[in-house]
Amino acid sequence: MSSVNSSQSSLSSVSAHQECDVLIVGGGVAGCATAIAINQQAPTLRVVVIEKSDDQTPASIGENLSPQVVEPLKALGLWDSFRHNEFLPNCGTAASWGKEALDHYDFSLSPFNQGWNISRQQFAMWLKQEVENRGIEIVQPASVNCVERHSGQWRIEVSTPLSESRYHWQAAFLVDASGRRSVVTSQLGIARTSVDNLVSVYGFVEQDRQSMVNHGLNASGCSGALSSLSALFEATHYGWWYSVPLMNGGYMVAAMTDADIAKELLLSDPDAWKKSLRTMTHTCSRLGDIHWLDGAMVNTEDEKMRLRKVCAQSQYLSQVVGSGWLAVGDSAGCYDPLLSQGIVAPLSLAPLAATVAVHSASHQEDSETIRQYATACEKTWHDYLVMRERLYSEERRFQEYAFWSRRQHHSEEMAVG
Ligand SMILES: Cc1cc2nc3c(=O)[nH]c(=O)nc-3n(C[C@H](O)[C@H](O)[C@H](O)COP(=O)(O)OP(=O)(O)OC[C@H]3O[C@@H](n4cnc5c(N)ncnc54)[C@H](O)[C@@H]3O)c2cc1C
Repeated sequence: MSSVNSSQSSLSSVSAHQECDVLIVGGGVAGCATAIAINQQAPTLRVVVIEKSDDQTPASIGENLSPQVVEPLKALGLWDSFRHNEFLPNCGTAASWGKEALDHYDFSLSPFNQGWNISRQQFAMWLKQEVENRGIEIVQPASVNCVERHSGQWRIEVSTPLSESRYHWQAAFLVDASGRRSVVTSQLGIARTSVDNLVSVYGFVEQDRQSMVNHGLNASGCSGALSSLSALFEATHYGWWYSVPLMNGGYMVAAMTDADIAKELLLSDPDAWKKSLRTMTHTCSRLGDIHWLDGAMVNTEDEKMRLRKVCAQSQYLSQVVGSGWLAVGDSAGCYDPLLSQGIVAPLSLAPLAATVAVHSASHQEDSETIRQYATACEKTWHDYLVMRERLYSEERRFQEYAFWSRRQHHSEEMAVG
């Protein structure tokens, strides 16, 4: 991987202009998976990934991997290596959804009957290492500012945070894997539509070892039947909470609601957040005893423990592929975290995205692969909407409350912008 220094020195020595066949904007899961798939299909193409963040910045959120991830990892040749990460296996999820009692959903009907609780930072580092192992360049930290297309070639302006200078890359094909920011497609003027206003206010809760001993929790921080489970979802009148055990023995705990409701409830304030959390019976019971929360979590002085609010809107792009470009991952469509689909979807679509890129970069752009990719993205989005609608309609206790009534209508009618 190009470090700040190596990428800067190589850039200055090659002057202000470099060329590649495929340039990928964003080195998250979608960008890395697409880079690997392109390399599988056409190892001689020069693929470059430009990633804005450095490895010190916390990676994207999302610690829950469903069993569906196995097949795409195998297809990308990543499965054996993935297993060496020794992420926490889990055998299902639990939910208080539609009723007060907790239901357990195991993965026994899935061909691979376990999922994983991952460290998102470790997952991101591992994936980037796999990209680098294939001889693919990652320029990091470097930010794509603007893109232009002339005579079938892209001209991409890039800047690095540690230098004033801007320089350019030239590429035959451009992949927008920049996440929700969708930096390429927004410049191409492609419309992005949100079907809700979901936000997540989350914190990483570290376990106080003494509390674990006092409250009989095991080493992974769980007690009894919940010990081998991944996410626990608990619905309430203003939305839902979820918690996922972390590899360090703590939890990621999130309140999910609409932006206006979060504001009304002051959920970004740690005291209000904790007060709301205290009313969540199953989540609190899973976390052990609420007393340890006061001392152990959300110390706002500590960057790692700070409460964060992030956008979790379901969004889709009106066009995901065109001549010389495509969008993958969150850039093409964002899913409600309730379905834990955000990582699996780009891993699954990467081979098809790669075929479009390889054909186009080899001057064999064909409308059939473009159409196949567009159709696959549409189907993924459509299947997701059906599942989302089904899940939200299963909770009928709070129908008169704004959060739930907004989700009782067909998603297509809920487009907000
Ligand atoms: C609250 C919440 C919980 C979630 N939980 C789960 C979960 O449990 N399981 C799951 O599967 N999914 C989950 N997701 C979704 C999942 O995290 C995302 O779908 C996934 O990260 C998408 O990957 P991506 O590579 O498309 O985008 P990102 O992970 O956002 O990566 C985009 C990359 O592009 C880079 N970038 C941005 N702009 C530029 C630029 N101008 N130049 C260069 N680089 C740029 C960014 O630095 C970033 O690294 C969750 C999402 C939310 C909001």
